[in-house]
Amino acid sequence: MAPDTMTEDQKQIVAMIRDFVKRDIEPVASEMDHDDIYPQEIVEKMKTLGLFGCIIDEEYGGMGLDYTTYAMIIEEICKGWMSIAGVINSHLIMAYIVQTYGSDDMKRAYLPAMASGEKRGGIALTEPNCGSDVAAIETSAVRDGDDYVINGNKMMITNGEQGTTFAVLAKTDKEVRPGHRGISCFILEKGPGFRSGRHLEKLGYRGIDTSELIFEDFHAPATSLVGDEENQGFYQMMSALEVGRINIAARAVGVATAAFETAIAYAQQRRTMGKPIAEHQAIQIKLADMYTKIEAARLLTYQAAAKKDAGERCDLEAGMAKLFASEMCAEVAMEAMRIHGGYGYFKDYVVERYYRDAPLMIIGEGTSEIQKLVIARNLLKKYKQG
Ligand SMILES: Cc1cc2nc3c(=O)[nH]c(=O)nc-3n(C[C@H](O)[C@H](O)[C@H](O)COP(=O)(O)OP(=O)(O)OC[C@H]3O[C@@H](n4cnc5c(N)ncnc54)[C@H](O)[C@@H]3O)c2cc1C
Repeated sequence: MAPDTMTEDQKQIVAMIRDFVKRDIEPVASEMDHDDIYPQEIVEKMKTLGLFGCIIDEEYGGMGLDYTTYAMIIEEICKGWMSIAGVINSHLIMAYIVQTYGSDDMKRAYLPAMASGEKRGGIALTEPNCGSDVAAIETSAVRDGDDYVINGNKMMITNGEQGTTFAVLAKTDKEVRPGHRGISCFILEKGPGFRSGRHLEKLGYRGIDTSELIFEDFHAPATSLVGDEENQGFYQMMSALEVGRINIAARAVGVATAAFETAIAYAQQRRTMGKPIAEHQAIQIKLADMYTKIEAARLLTYQAAAKKDAGERCDLEAGMAKLFASEMCAEVAMEAMRIHGGYGYFKDYVVERYYRDAPLMIIGEGTSEIQKLVIARNLLKKYKQG
């Protein structure tokens, strides 16, 4: 979106976030990333800025922002450091589930504390044996009087250590076929029988915690079930993942923009064969392609966010935005590194971080292959013959 089509509120919010990123994130991002240090001070500032509640309704203490403004915020944060966007992404996907499908009691119990950042959320779908194939999850929830008893392991969970409360998918019917019809979603707080497991070391997206979650005969009250009936969890989560996919697309636009800006600055300083490399046409063509693709990805992201803002399902638009933006980001980060020549390979230059962070966007919230399946399924519905 060109700045002149932004509302005054959006301009102010983006300016505030840009200031926060320049002052508090950029100066420390690469060092904290290299040392894999959790950004506690930044997280505390995010609380004071209201970012943990940015899309939570004002009635529950949030900022009540729309998804377009949310995408703008995420893009700005990711120009500084992508990991910071991960701190609020799955937290807000969980908040969306509670806000959209939870009972009034559940909303009152979680949303105000999530909006302030006192309760820190996440989502837990993936398991050691399945990620893309959500229908195959093995974590079980068995009704026992007024409780459910949860058993199973979740894998690669963002905020797994710092998070206190998670939207967890578990099987409540193991027999039904197809398997996704037997999945329920629960809002579960850590306690006896529910803990985080191994801390997982990553290529990029460092600083933020990714871990296992372990459930061993964990007793949760029946009121932890999201919605009035069992076996709705897959559908609730898929609707919420639209928000996650908008976040990932916006992240990709942010990281790619930072990579592009680093590259175009470097290209005007580095000289070969008697002139700045920016004057070689081969480099100019790279810059033109990079920028054009970033702009296209941003438009797709805003298109998806606008549809979600209109209260409509946006699986198709969010899938296309996530697919295009994440693949674009990986390409742009690689091109930015190539423009830096050998220096791009060293930790002294920030471009290596963009290059390591970019692949996550291709994987998280559904891989590119899965996005293509989602897109094609929606196209076949849209263009159904006879
Ligand atoms: C840093 C990080 C953070 C994460 N955070 C979370 C989190 O907070 N919560 C959570 O639940 N999960 C999280 N994940 C997990 C992530 O969502 C999964 O890794 C992802 O969905 C892919 O699942 P998988 O790793 O099991 O790969 P698999 O499903 O085993 O896929 C392996 C490969 O096969 C391809 N493939 C699979 N099925 C098909 C098919 N039908 N057609 C064509 N190709 C196919 C995939 O695209 C992929 O290339 C995180 C992952 C990472 C890396």
